[in-house]
Amino acid sequence: MKALQYRSLGAAPEIVEIETPEPGPGQVRLKVTAAGVCHSDEFIMSLPKDQYVYGLPLTLGHEAAGVVDKIGAGVKHVEEGQSMAVYGPWGCGLCYECSSGRENYCRNAGEYGIAPPGLGAPGAMAEYLVVDSARHLVPLGDLDPVKNVSLTDAGLTPYHAIKGSLEKLHSGSTAVVIGVGGLGHVAIQILRSLTAATVVALDVDKAKLDLAASVGAQYSFPSEAGAVDMIKDLTNGLGVDAVFDFVTVQSTLDLGQAMVRSQGDQVLVGVGSGTLPVGLAATSSWETTIRAPYWGSRTELFEVLELARHGSINVHTEVFSLEKAPEAYEKLKNNQLVGRAVVVP
Ligand code: NAD
Ligand code: ZN
Repeated sequence: MKALQYRSLGAAPEIVEIETPEPGPGQVRLKVTAAGVCHSDEFIMSLPKDQYVYGLPLTLGHEAAGVVDKIGAGVKHVEEGQSMAVYGPWGCGLCYECSSGRENYCRNAGEYGIAPPGLGAPGAMAEYLVVDSARHLVPLGDLDPVKNVSLTDAGLTPYHAIKGSLEKLHSGSTAVVIGVGGLGHVAIQILRSLTAATVVALDVDKAKLDLAASVGAQYSFPSEAGAVDMIKDLTNGLGVDAVFDFVTVQSTLDLGQAMVRSQGDQVLVGVGSGTLPVGLAATSSWETTIRAPYWGSRTELFEVLELARHGSINVHTEVFSLEKAPEAYEKLKNNQLVGRAVVVP
């Protein structure tokens, strides 16, 4: 089968011909219907040797959807032909966290060598994907896999991040989304459908600010120091109740810290390398909370897909064939994508 692989450190990913994988006992093989292109892929491909832990060659693609194609021995309650989304942050399935659906925080994944598809295990940028357990499959039903595959990460990750701040996003509150890319433009829609908060978007790119407005942000401003005053004006000088930062470079962390109000949340979703000073001397806002969430739980993936079913989330997609997937990564790297790139093998 054809697959898109990251094969040598620092090089662009390439299309190669590899053996079609067979599902072992307990596993399910999907014929891939769609795979999303995430900035985290770009991030791991930028890592130097001493920080790169994902194995080579690596078939990319941690946002996955497919149709059940071959069922491994012992797998029950799954039928060939079913259209599925793949829950990506695989865990052991047995520990306390996994038992409550939070496989993203599995206690044993490191020790047992369990890695998500596309981030250690072979991913979905291929014609077929073997999923380790039927537990990781969430039925898509009538949802279009191409339009919705990115909900497995670009939907699930902001959903989880926002759920942790829901109590603070009451009527009269304000939420800021920094970085209106694949995750950020879905975050705006989740905020608008789950909360009564006024949503403000910040980005450095005009096309992304236009996208923010079109998906429901009431205000959108260039991501620069002046944004703090504009946002303070909007909030009677108080600052905002929650900042969701999908960039987390030093400048966005500083912006977020300058605009978050007392008792507000600063939620760091991006993998940028900025850091925040904490402690009483570092802040003018009392009792703020800083969180750095990772992906989301299985139950939350069901909830996100339900939001899409109700028409509350619409992922803006640009579709690429598998042969053109390297072009999608090139556009991602150059910040030329608006919304999410989706690869259809
Ligand atoms: P993306 O490339 O689609 O979007 C990034 C957006 O940020 C773009 O719109 C870009 O214009 C904007 N941006 C860049 N610099 C900016 C700045 N200084 N101020 C404001 N906006 C700026 O990326 P994505 O796929 O949406 O991923 C977003 C981030 O989230 C990445 O760092 C990714 O690795 C990370 N991520 C984290 C998790 C997690 O579990 N924590 C999961 C998935 C992705
Ligand atoms: Zn576990």
